[in-house]
Amino acid sequence: MKTVKDYIRSIVDFPHEGIVFRDVTTLFADARGFRMAVDQLLHPWAGMDIDKVAGLEARGFILGGAVAHQLGTGFVPIRKKGKLPGAVISESYVLEYGEAVLEVHDDALLRGERVLIVDDLLATGGTAEAGIRLCRRLGAEVIGCGFVIELPALGGRERIEALGLPVQALCA
Ligand code: IMP
Repeated sequence: MKTVKDYIRSIVDFPHEGIVFRDVTTLFADARGFRMAVDQLLHPWAGMDIDKVAGLEARGFILGGAVAHQLGTGFVPIRKKGKLPGAVISESYVLEYGEAVLEVHDDALLRGERVLIVDDLLATGGTAEAGIRLCRRLGAEVIGCGFVIELPALGGRERIEALGLPVQALCA
């Protein structure tokens, strides 16, 4: 029986020489693999009181949308700078080289709403932390973060757990 990890391929030297990129498009393209990943992602949270799933651009939209549909919640996109049409709040975060900015519509979450954050991969945790900060600034309560893959050597789990949140990853 194949596991989620079996559907993910690694591409060497993408996007830069020396990087091994974990490519989940092969997971998404397979009917069994995609369903398995979505089912496993929502499993810890099923039956909990959740109002919204927030997906981090871009693969978090594919996973988060499916999880939201299954949990029966709304979906909120957290996007890179300049992509959302309405009024936004922004958070910058540090990348390996330089800085990036994530944004969310300022009316996407209501005060007190309970939010699950979803993305494909947890590395340093900088992206997820920026997403958490955005949700919290709108007064929402982040209840946890779900990822398909984590890269444990980069410390993302510890970083998110230090914010008081449970982290779920399907494989490493
Ligand atoms: P972090 O902010 O260092 O945790 O990096 C995680 C973010 O970078 C996520 O939004 C991922 O989609 C993206 N990312 C980093 N490395 C990879 C990879 O190998 N495959 C897919 N996405 C990656």
